[in-house]
Amino acid sequence: MKRCIVCDKEFDGVSRDVCSWKCDENRRAVLRKKLDDAVKNDKSHTKKMAKSD
Ligand SMILES: [Zn+2]
Repeated sequence: MKRCIVCDKEFDGVSRDVCSWKCDENRRAVLRKKLDDAVKNDKSHTKKMAKSD
């Protein structure tokens, strides 16, 4: 048994980290959001740098 990294449910699976395609979508959405946030933070950081210049 493995544990789904998204919903924490136990499931039968070998190569997957998630229990269903729904959780797979969810994980992708979370990853994408993290990436977006990182880009946003990066941009605001750059803006601050430019302002103080
Ligand atoms: Zn799941």
